[in-house]
Amino acid sequence: MAKSTEAAHLETTFFGDVCEFFDHAAQFTSHHEGLLDQIRSCNSVYRFRFPIRRGNGFEVIDAWRVEHSHHKSPTKGGIRYSEMVNEDEVMALASLMTYKCAIVNVPFGGAKGGIKINPKNYTVAELENITRRYTVELIKKNFIGPGIDVPAPDYGSGEREMSWIADTYQTMNPGQLDALGCVTGKPLALHGIAGRREATGRGVAISIRECVDITEDMTRVGLTAGLSGKRVIVQGLGNVGYYTCKYLAEFGATIVGMCEYEGAIYNAKGLDLDDVFNHRKATGSILGFAGAAKEFKNSSEGLEQECDILVPAALENQITENNIGNIKAKIIAEAANGPTTPAAAAAFIERGSIIIPDMYCNAGGVTVSYFEWLKNLSHVAFGRMDKRYEETANFNLVNMVESATGVTLDAAQRKMIIKGATELELVNSGLEDTMIRSYHEIREIKMNNPKIDSLRTAAFVSSIDKIAVSYMNLGIWP
Ligand code: NAD
Repeated sequence: MAKSTEAAHLETTFFGDVCEFFDHAAQFTSHHEGLLDQIRSCNSVYRFRFPIRRGNGFEVIDAWRVEHSHHKSPTKGGIRYSEMVNEDEVMALASLMTYKCAIVNVPFGGAKGGIKINPKNYTVAELENITRRYTVELIKKNFIGPGIDVPAPDYGSGEREMSWIADTYQTMNPGQLDALGCVTGKPLALHGIAGRREATGRGVAISIRECVDITEDMTRVGLTAGLSGKRVIVQGLGNVGYYTCKYLAEFGATIVGMCEYEGAIYNAKGLDLDDVFNHRKATGSILGFAGAAKEFKNSSEGLEQECDILVPAALENQITENNIGNIKAKIIAEAANGPTTPAAAAAFIERGSIIIPDMYCNAGGVTVSYFEWLKNLSHVAFGRMDKRYEETANFNLVNMVESATGVTLDAAQRKMIIKGATELELVNSGLEDTMIRSYHEIREIKMNNPKIDSLRTAAFVSSIDKIAVSYMNLGIWP
């Protein structure tokens, strides 16, 4: 299929890469080219600049918010704080959000924001000032609101920034009952949700576990089934990378390599996540860690060491034509957005290896953000109404079964059966179910069409079809 005008014009850009993946998948759908064009394009791109006071002078900050698709409302996507942020990157990330939400059946259109700063170079007071002003600019243009566009954390931002956004929005919209639903990833004390901080990494770990549990697929790539003992290298130890390591280790995998911007460490026998973190906290670097067998000053060398699974969890364009030949992993799990270029992905798939695509792999974050948004709109924490009711019902049932059978449970068994679900348990259950069901949905599409070469193509086919149906249901397309 010929490349869309969009992809042809943007060949060397991140958004161009996403369009290229889209166009490749679109040939396996039967939608009108005009409809495909509507789905692929970014609907609204808001670029703005604002001044902040710094020291004795001023600095002008560049910022963006892109709403890629309004086939569902609100739109949703994180805000990236990075000096490398640019319009193309925000457009690409916004479009990935649209496809991601469709894959995991989260009823949002895609969006993304960007603030072009290196947060490490600013004081907390300056960061607060920038974040609040960014929010005001979004309010002025109607680019934020619980039913309009709902930001979340991304690279360089977290709960602290989300609470500044929520507070600014509430202040500017007094009396708006659902105001706290204007942003997700908030701290628990500000009506965030249990489990959101860990959600993306937890979802990544579940996606990998689901993939490696299928014997037929593992045999094809020359691995045994199951996570136990699988060797994993993770790039980027921020929010996503940290929790991915944590849950993969809990599920039985061995973290053999860790890469950060200052370098990489490796030990075939395994690295202890918390020991590495404590060392980094104390010294400012992962290098020099006593438990490492090898270390590399050039961080990207860390990606090329012996392992079964490589998890890029930092930024885009990390696995390219230049290093794909040296990657030893049989599975790449894209925890970051856009870490593998189309050419590198094609070469990896050609070898018969597996890529778990970003738009599915890191969708745990937006899934739990959706739960947080629902919590904010309903103004009640999950489990609050039914936890004790459930416990009483279970208590009565256990008593009846005990007296009818004469079997007596010990205290631990009784507690396990009687206990009602907490918010965290409900969130984790919803997250796990979403990740598992979506994996099999994508894999099924791939298995049912031998011409579909990868899980990414299958994931795009799934989301294009779902978004097309939304447009048809809206009556926008015949
Ligand atoms: P973060 O800022 O918490 O962490 C990123 C980490 O990567 C930092 O520790 C940074 O030092 C490191 N890093 C940067 N460049 C590197 C390099 N070249 N080599 C090695 N390490 C490098 O960001 P995050 O929230 O963990 O996001 C990481 C990725 O996951 C991004 O692509 C983001 O879009 C994606 N993502 C994040 C979420 C979320 O909920 N936070 C959700 C979905 C996707």
